[in-house]
Amino acid sequence: MHSTGLVCHEHYFWHHTGASAGPLPYGLTLQPDAHPESPQTKRRFMGLLEVSGILDRLVRIKPRQATLKEVTNYHTADYVKRVRELSAGVGGDAGEFTPIGTGSYEIALLSAGGALEGLDAVMKGQVKNVYCLIRPPGHHAEKDLARGFCVFANNVLVTQRAKLVHGCKRVAIVDWDVHHGNSQEHAFLEDPSVLTVSVHQDNYYPPNSGHVTENGRGTGVGANINIPLPPGAGHGAYLEAWSKVVMPAVRRFRPDLIIVSSGFDGSAMDPLGRMLCTSETYRAMARMTLDLADEICGGRVVMLHEGGYSTAYVPNCGLAVIEEMTGVRTECADPFLPVFQNMGGQGLLPHQEAVIQQAQRLLDRIP
Ligand SMILES: [Zn+2]
Repeated sequence: MHSTGLVCHEHYFWHHTGASAGPLPYGLTLQPDAHPESPQTKRRFMGLLEVSGILDRLVRIKPRQATLKEVTNYHTADYVKRVRELSAGVGGDAGEFTPIGTGSYEIALLSAGGALEGLDAVMKGQVKNVYCLIRPPGHHAEKDLARGFCVFANNVLVTQRAKLVHGCKRVAIVDWDVHHGNSQEHAFLEDPSVLTVSVHQDNYYPPNSGHVTENGRGTGVGANINIPLPPGAGHGAYLEAWSKVVMPAVRRFRPDLIIVSSGFDGSAMDPLGRMLCTSETYRAMARMTLDLADEICGGRVVMLHEGGYSTAYVPNCGLAVIEEMTGVRTECADPFLPVFQNMGGQGLLPHQEAVIQQAQRLLDRIP
């Protein structure tokens, strides 16, 4: 059984981040402009899936709204109420850099619930793996605060359900978004049954977060690994980090399920990230992850869409990942590759290798 599921819904594109100036609120000295977390990257990703023909090979999984009980399993009731109240009006900032619009509460519940349905489809064996093209994203959301465009911590809720409902004993969350996956780190910092590994741009967002020295706490010591790559890291550095630290960490941990926080903002085209990844970088990281899942956990992989702000390039990066998940290579080659692969600095550089080696030394501490 090699089928791949896809979770998406038109309402995901209706979550309205409003007028702003890039990621900041506009004002009298900052002219209104578009918000980077727009529906376009996701809509165009879906568009390429259809045009490439691969959409016909995917099993569509219908999302549902997460229940209040599921969401408050992690988030505080006060925070959830605040999101609901803003959404019932004209919207506003639900925390830190997270503008929401009318109806965004219900859409955020549908985003979280879509991830939960994707999990169920994998755990029940309806599909082997699933890509949840959900919005708003989740890997910055804290239990009591929206952060970095994220409302509910989708990956935390999926992990909780995997353990509570599906009996998973150990879950690994690996994160290739260019920003630090602080949601999962904070949620499971003291939990030895959840391994969290994040590869991200050093000290970017959230500020002062995602340091290599943050390695879990209390009973969770060793079960959180950060690989903060210097700006300018490309294909070589990402593959070195993924093959020498992320994959060995997951192999040692032997989870029942692998969750991928999949953001494409480490691409060479991204307006927010300062990295050089190509669609081939994401393809290779996906391939390694899927192969390892085949080896240790029956191929069970749940991918949750996170960041990625290049409207032009996110679709090609996303298609490469879906091609690996399905094992179907379409005729839509990435037209950007000849330029991006030729960029200086794509290979592994010594200052990048030094960071990766530092993280590699943490492998012996995995519980
Ligand atoms: Zn990001």
